[in-house]
Amino acid sequence: MVMGPTHAMSGAAVGLAVAQMLPAEWGGVTTAQEAFVYAGLAAGAALLPDLDSPQATVARSFGPLSQVVSRGVENFSQGVVNLTRGRRDPRCNNGHRTLTHTVWFALAAGAGATALIGAYEKPAVIGLLFFLLSLAIRGLLPEWSKKHDWIVVTGAAAALAYGAWTFVPAASLGLVMGSAVTVGVVTHLLGDMATKAGIPAFAPVLPLRGRRWWKLRLPGFLSIKASGPGDKALLSIFSVLVVIQIGFVASPPLIAALGL
Ligand SMILES: [Zn+2]
Repeated sequence: MVMGPTHAMSGAAVGLAVAQMLPAEWGGVTTAQEAFVYAGLAAGAALLPDLDSPQATVARSFGPLSQVVSRGVENFSQGVVNLTRGRRDPRCNNGHRTLTHTVWFALAAGAGATALIGAYEKPAVIGLLFFLLSLAIRGLLPEWSKKHDWIVVTGAAAALAYGAWTFVPAASLGLVMGSAVTVGVVTHLLGDMATKAGIPAFAPVLPLRGRRWWKLRLPGFLSIKASGPGDKALLSIFSVLVVIQIGFVASPPLIAALGL
C-alpha cells in the first residue's frame, strides 16, 4: 500500500488538473470554488478503495461505525472473489485489494455519486463532500488525525463541507461532480499499481491463464515501496503540483500574466 498522504495528495493533484480541463459545455467546473470542491471530492475518493482494510486509517474515519462498514466491505469482497475465481486463482482469505481495487468499482462509485447528486442535487454534493473530506483529512494528516478523537476530525470535515455550501450552485452538477469520485478512485488504483503487490484491475471480467483475479502491476524496476523513497518522492511531487495548481485556479490574473 502506498501511504495515505500520497493517495490523498495525488487525488487532489489529479482532481485539480481534471477540473481545469472539463469542458464548460458539459456544465463543467466554471469557478475556482467549484474546482476546489471537485478536488476535495477526488482527494477523498482517492482513499475510498482502502475502506476494504479495517486496519487502514481511513477505516477509522467515523469511529466504530466505519470499522464495522470496513469489515463488511472486506468480507463481502472476499466472498465475491471466492465466488468468481478462476480455476487457478488461489482461495481468498482476505478481501483487501480485491473488489474495491478494480476499474468496475471506480465506475460504479462515480455512477453512484452521479445518481445521488442527480436525485438530491446540492445537499448530495455537500453530503458527499463531508464524507469524502473526512477520508481526505485522515489521509493527508494521519498524525494530526491520530492525536485527535475521530469526532474532531469528522467535525473539521463537516465545517469545511458547510463552508462549501455557499459555493456549490443549486443546479445539478451530477455527472461533473460524480466524475470526481471516479477520478479519485482511479488515481488510487494507479498508486497501488505502482507497488509490488499490484491490483486486480479488470477482475473478474477478463480472465488470464485460468485466473480471474490476476494482478496488474508495473514492471519490477518501476515499482515502489510503501513509505520508501519512491513513495516520499511521489508525495513531494504531488504536493508541489497541488500548490502550483491552487495558484492557477485561485488567480486567473496569474495565468494571464504568464501568457498561458
Ligand atoms: Zn489500496
